[in-house]
Amino acid sequence: MRLTFVLQRMPWLYDYKSQFSLGILYLSTILKKSGWTIDLFDANKYEIGTIPEADVYGFSCTYNTYPDSILLANSIKIKYPKSKVIIGGSHPTLDQFNIDEIFDSIFVGEAQKTIKEFSSDFLSGTTRKYYIQTEEDDINTIFPDRSLLADEYLRTKSVFTGGKEYDSNGATSIMFTRGCPYECTFCASSALYKRKIRYRDILSIETELKNIIDVYNIRQFRVQDDTFTLNRRFFKELCEMLIKYNIFYRCSTRVNHIDDEICNLLWESGCREIGIGVETANDEVLKLYKKQITVAQIEKALGHMRKYPFVIRAFFMLGTPFDSEKTLKDNQDFIERNNIEGATVAKFLPLPGTELFNNKEKYNIKSIKEDTCMNVSRTYPFVPNIIRTDISEEEHIKIVKPFYDYLAKKRMI
Ligand code: SF4
Repeated sequence: MRLTFVLQRMPWLYDYKSQFSLGILYLSTILKKSGWTIDLFDANKYEIGTIPEADVYGFSCTYNTYPDSILLANSIKIKYPKSKVIIGGSHPTLDQFNIDEIFDSIFVGEAQKTIKEFSSDFLSGTTRKYYIQTEEDDINTIFPDRSLLADEYLRTKSVFTGGKEYDSNGATSIMFTRGCPYECTFCASSALYKRKIRYRDILSIETELKNIIDVYNIRQFRVQDDTFTLNRRFFKELCEMLIKYNIFYRCSTRVNHIDDEICNLLWESGCREIGIGVETANDEVLKLYKKQITVAQIEKALGHMRKYPFVIRAFFMLGTPFDSEKTLKDNQDFIERNNIEGATVAKFLPLPGTELFNNKEKYNIKSIKEDTCMNVSRTYPFVPNIIRTDISEEEHIKIVKPFYDYLAKKRMI
């Protein structure tokens, strides 16, 4: 039995390989144990028409890769009409009843258990349309089998900003926790994980880490957790273990979970880059996002972080229904005042299942456009993803354009 996972095209990312899906790797590991041969087909590199034959083709998709999943799945079905095409990931989980007919099976929720069900159903020729898992995956005893990855996906070179390297053997992704207890109105995490965070056992993390170092000699990591420093007790225990291994990593966290002690532990345990969700430097808009932070808190956290030579990346959203000349001027002033050197700017994209998606009218959103590219960059000229109810698209662009030009001039996009 042969299953090929298809890596969808993500031309808006600087290096799509540096964000290899751990979800695909976990499922590949389980399927391999069930006797499947697992392949990876990279649609970023190869024409879909050249994809080799398999029994099953798998897609793990988000809202912004979903349109490409449909295109690729259609091409596969034309070439191999007898093969099955299956889809899972955050988008089918959040919007399960709006998935294109082309997909033979749709995986909703985490999928360690349901992928095993699919495997035995496939053998008996009884696969079904929906595989819905309500139980949580085991995040402690199953380790992603990195031997399934070709070297170019296993050890990437662009995990740190500007291609910086702290070790010459590349970097890989790792996950210590899953979920987030917050409920930001634009973020799908609360819909996906029911506002719950699960922590891996320190021993389990250490076993995986030692394997990565011993077998692959990799010491650089992208920590994929939503809010790395959320639980001080867990975080301290984890850092005490990490310190022993002389590693380097980047992570993301919330500014209300940053202080002097946390920064010290981050640095000592090998953190060299921190991403923080600023979203906007305007308190009123932060309230509308239910972000539960203020601009003063962001600036206080920056003060703590600046005591160490971390690279700090601030995440902003552009093209929201709350944009006005004032809010964007606030962002610009914030960047200047705090000497922000690294900003990641994403197009505002309310995901299915989020407060902003479910209550569009309340938030002045008429519709969401098909253009799903998230990263704002000079390669992708800025066009908002939403149509507002209160002003025309031209007026919206007119408001946002000066900030976009400012970011481009600063070479932040
Ligand atoms: S934006 Fe970050 S803090 Fe807010 S819910 Fe999502 S993951 Fe949690």
